[in-house]
Amino acid sequence: MIIDTHAHIDQLEDLPGALERAHEAGVSDIIAVSVDLGSMEKVLSIAGQYQKPKIHPALGVHPGMVKAETQQMALDFMRANLSQARAVGETGLDYWYKWVRKDEIERQQQKDSFAVHLELAQEFDLPIVIHSRGAWQDCLSMTLASGVKRALFHWYSGPVDILDQIISAGFYVSTSVSVAYSPESRQAMGHAPLDRILVETDAPVTYRDGETKFMAEPKDVIRTWKALAQLKNLDEQEVLTVVNANAKAFFGI
Ligand SMILES: [Zn+2]
Repeated sequence: MIIDTHAHIDQLEDLPGALERAHEAGVSDIIAVSVDLGSMEKVLSIAGQYQKPKIHPALGVHPGMVKAETQQMALDFMRANLSQARAVGETGLDYWYKWVRKDEIERQQQKDSFAVHLELAQEFDLPIVIHSRGAWQDCLSMTLASGVKRALFHWYSGPVDILDQIISAGFYVSTSVSVAYSPESRQAMGHAPLDRILVETDAPVTYRDGETKFMAEPKDVIRTWKALAQLKNLDEQEVLTVVNANAKAFFGI
């Protein structure tokens, strides 16, 4: 069995088929992250409809989806429903695009949102799933300042010096199918200790497979696991045992 620790199941084109294929491939559990109010509602409703794989909702507003007009409603919904969730997320900061790096108001809105997510994680004693693309240092600083203890830097592909601080703070990182080929992912995961790594798909993200591309679904977490084992030059079963134990410990499942 294997756990997909980060999938956007509400965005999958063929949800029943994808879950069936995941179950057949040995995926026992999926952490179903959300990105905005509509997505939170869908994830909660889907989680109640399917038993295999077991779906664990995570509630949050993605940094790319923070909107001044709807933010309060989304946060109120989170607060009202977090008792049914397994985690807070996905949340965080995203400074990847130049316009965001130039737009101080946008960055402040993302920070305000992330700060509330960190507070809610504390209040509900839940782990938090952090999107940190291009904003690794600010994400780490805010997380450390918040006092949150269970933080996952999802699909970590940032600098290794920040990774060292993430690890020494006791936090976790995850990696995606990109660990098979992305230099940034490979550098980070080559550096991170295996006992802090989780595997995920971020489905339905599109990945490369040699010369072709494909849209991921939760069963593709098997690709992530195998590529990680290859990168680490370790036995696949040994890696599977460790990443499953990490996911269970982190999410308490
Ligand atoms: Zn995601």
